[in-house]
Amino acid sequence: MNLDPQDCQECDRLVSQYEAATFVQVKIHNQLDIACRLRDRALTRRLTLEAYEITARRTTAREALARHRQSAHAAVKQPDYALAAR
Ligand SMILES: [Zn+2]
Repeated sequence: MNLDPQDCQECDRLVSQYEAATFVQVKIHNQLDIACRLRDRALTRRLTLEAYEITARRTTAREALARHRQSAHAAVKQPDYALAAR
């Protein structure tokens, strides 16, 4: 399978997953910033844990996308002569 990443549903799905995690991460960091300013220790603690979780989820999503692109679309970026030489 070496279709164009532009037409790939799996790429769309993985990119959406990554973007959603990025969005949540920004939101949590903003809330964390506010909790710190308010010196709300309990909330700061809870949000810090959430920030770790979402960072891990975002990293996993990014790695899944990279792995998929490598296996499904690796040949797309290569010039024609590289394929012909095999
Ligand atoms: Zn794809």
